[in-house]
Amino acid sequence: MTAYETDNIFAKILRGEIPSTRVYEDEDTLAFMDIMPRADGHLLVIPKTPCRNVLDASPAQLEAVIRTVQKLAIAAKAAFDAEGVTIQQFNEAAGGQEVFHLHFHVLPRHEGVALRAPGKMGDMAAIAGHAEKIRAAL
Ligand code: AMP
Repeated sequence: MTAYETDNIFAKILRGEIPSTRVYEDEDTLAFMDIMPRADGHLLVIPKTPCRNVLDASPAQLEAVIRTVQKLAIAAKAAFDAEGVTIQQFNEAAGGQEVFHLHFHVLPRHEGVALRAPGKMGDMAAIAGHAEKIRAAL
């Protein structure tokens, strides 16, 4: 197993070294908006303690993160009047992972609306508005 690297983007977000649009946090987890949203309301949930992904996470980290994923999935679904929610999670580069700090994607979904292509920067003002809607639904 490759070691956790402390200079990954999400570790920097946790340390406050780079900005993020935070929507929720508790003692163990943080939820913030994805800057390349594949759907309106696309957010990420991470543990505050280090682990690369599901392969090296402790049961306690997984439990804390999935509790917050559920809380945010319910809030995001309500905030966007969505019919469903897609939850994505990738492990190591071969598994599609690009940032090596455990994270779950939460994507509100509407019937017949495809996810947008990955890798395109979102409009930060729109993302801030989406975050506010989710906070209000929490
Ligand atoms: P993956 O590791 O494949 O789950 O992809 C990493 C995700 O992190 C992508 O959806 C990116 O858009 C997102 N991302 C990368 N940098 C940032 C950032 N600074 N703030 C919020 N989301 C980010």
